[in-house]
Amino acid sequence: MTALGPHCDMTKKSASPPSLPVEELSLTQARAEHARLGEDIARYDRAYYQEDAPLVPDAEYDEARRRYQALEKTFPELVSDESLTKKVGAKPSEKFAKVKHAVPMLSLGNVFSDEEVGDFVARVRRFLGLSETSPVMCTAEPKIDGLSCSLRYEKGRLVQAATRGDGYEGEDVTANIRTLGEVPTILQDGAPEVLEVRGEVYMTHADFAALNVRQKAAGKQTFANPRNAAAGSLRQLDARITAARPLHFFAYGWGEVNALPAKTQWGVLKAFEAYGLKVNSRAKLCSSVEEMLAHYRAIEADRATLGYDIDGVVYKVDDIALQERLGFVSRAPRWAVAHKFPAERATTIVRDIEINVGRTGALTPIARLEPVTVGGVVVSNATLHNEDYIEDKDIRVGDTVVVQRAGDVIPQIVEVVVEKRPKKGLERYIFPEVCPRCGSAALREIDEKTGEADVVRRCTGSLVCPAQAVERLKHFASRNAFDIEGLGDKQIEYFFNEGLIKTPSDIFTLEERDQKSLTKIKNREGFGETSVRNLFAAIEDRRTIPLNRFIYALGVRHVGETNARRLARHFGDFDSLREAARGAEPGTEARAHIDCIDGIGPAVAEALHDFFAEPHNEKELDALLRQVTLEPMPEIASSSPAAGKTVVFTGSLERLTRDEAKAQAERFGAKVAASVSKKTDLVVAGPGAGSKLAKAQELGIEVITEDEWFKRTGQA
Ligand code: NAD
Repeated sequence: MTALGPHCDMTKKSASPPSLPVEELSLTQARAEHARLGEDIARYDRAYYQEDAPLVPDAEYDEARRRYQALEKTFPELVSDESLTKKVGAKPSEKFAKVKHAVPMLSLGNVFSDEEVGDFVARVRRFLGLSETSPVMCTAEPKIDGLSCSLRYEKGRLVQAATRGDGYEGEDVTANIRTLGEVPTILQDGAPEVLEVRGEVYMTHADFAALNVRQKAAGKQTFANPRNAAAGSLRQLDARITAARPLHFFAYGWGEVNALPAKTQWGVLKAFEAYGLKVNSRAKLCSSVEEMLAHYRAIEADRATLGYDIDGVVYKVDDIALQERLGFVSRAPRWAVAHKFPAERATTIVRDIEINVGRTGALTPIARLEPVTVGGVVVSNATLHNEDYIEDKDIRVGDTVVVQRAGDVIPQIVEVVVEKRPKKGLERYIFPEVCPRCGSAALREIDEKTGEADVVRRCTGSLVCPAQAVERLKHFASRNAFDIEGLGDKQIEYFFNEGLIKTPSDIFTLEERDQKSLTKIKNREGFGETSVRNLFAAIEDRRTIPLNRFIYALGVRHVGETNARRLARHFGDFDSLREAARGAEPGTEARAHIDCIDGIGPAVAEALHDFFAEPHNEKELDALLRQVTLEPMPEIASSSPAAGKTVVFTGSLERLTRDEAKAQAERFGAKVAASVSKKTDLVVAGPGAGSKLAKAQELGIEVITEDEWFKRTGQA
């Protein structure tokens, strides 16, 4: 019955209009915003507390709450009994029997800075009329990120368990709580006659991850974070479901009690332990603000190793008599405060560094992290950008690191907590120099302008690397390359996923393999007899291809159509190009030779060498050349009236695509320019031509139509 709302938009921030500072608002504006925010917060609360499926990240929720509070502070006339600043949680769900809390279960005030912790202690002293130097003992306890629960024991026996609900009335979860191994049904001797134990039900990271795997496998909604998973698991109508979900419990406070076993918070925690209840071992009794802050930092640094989520440290005045004098203010006690960890940052451990190979062959390092909840979302990966980033920050596997998540961006590692590095040290991370997907060399290009190595390391096995394969294949079959009809992006993806086409040469053996195969392509969904026949015919049709198109189809970095044409023209045949590029080590004559080709620069020369020197590519080229025949580039028709002319195409062409027009003009020995200048000889203008046509007319340049172009080049 779990009502798990979709939390898939959790990482998206809703676009709220930029707001003016509260002081600059008129009362009417403030009233409208207060009402709107009130509706939003109530909606978020219902989803979070009743359905265990938050609609927005915690940071966004907290921001809405802060703004709402600021509005009430500046405009006290907005405060009413219905104010959300006075409310805790959400009403108990109708699905459960209700339990009235004898002592309300409230929330906690929040602070975020060291200074505010000092202010908290100063306020306590002021309220109690103590001098500035008199000690105020406080406990500092991890703030467990789960859901609070009240366990009522009578004569040492567990008689009732309830959730917090709206603080006054909660949900009866007695049967569910009884399934938790860590909650004793009978307390050890010495417990008071009536004792309401307050504490937190939570789920560990490992159990959370395993639960989500099970939920996914069963086609059910997964949980956004361990807190929601714990709440969703406890708040089940069928206690057998709760029993199957590993939940834990820490005791940290009390509600109704007939006789407290101690006079201090610390003393009660010790008594709880003696009764058989679990108390968090990281709680500490502190005698100064400095000690409280030091403990906060120690807990924050160990956050990654706890195995469960905490979102701060709670400080509580230790002396219970003073707690009673301090009392409550609206929804929180005056004697306690939560020192929250920054919402968007968390400390965790780097378990591994993995290399992802992108579709263009770029090697991107990713840190696999010990999962940690940051701003309400579980983070288990962070981007490491590139090799230099790891080097500069000296990130090593096993390091404790601070991760940050802001809005929609991928979490990042901000810094390494060097003090946490094991004494025996950790090995420096060595970035791989071969592609982890295909074993080809992975290189950093030298930037022509700066002379420095590019930040990105790239796999050179572009013809064989599975990470790049689909994109390469699409390029290979594309219109300006092999131009195979019926083998578009969708079909390539299909054949690749089916394992039928992995490399370019596979395209040309497809028919032969299909004849031998029992599962014929024509019998597969989306293919019919005719379409398969047409596809095979289209492939056959392209077994012979001009050299320049073939070079372009290989997808060598920096080798687009123009460079492919230059290379084809220069080398005349493929073997000559291949041999020259293979031997073009930096500093060799062969390299200088390629460098000197008109229009070809050092970046292209380097890319050609890297490509042809990679043995994996060599093998595929051999396979491919067994399938296709290369024909020399069409001769430049020097007799053509277009030869040597600079031509501009403008307006919409009806018989040619722009790419075709360009290729055609070049075939006739013309140069194609993008804009009209004095150097332009001819403008081919289609319907809708605008400024280029006007400029041509102004400069007195000859303008012809597309049909005239066909005639002039002897094609019509
Ligand atoms: P809170 O969770 O910040 O603090 C109060 C709670 O701390 C107590 O009820 C108790 O359960 C818990 N706690 C843990 N360890 C404790 C300890 N040692 N001693 C005492 N208490 C301890 O306050 P809240 O009002 O329950 O909830 C606010 C939190 O919930 C915020 O972090 C907010 O972002 C989140 N929230 C998020 C959404 C959303 O839509 N994303 C909606 C509602 C609330």
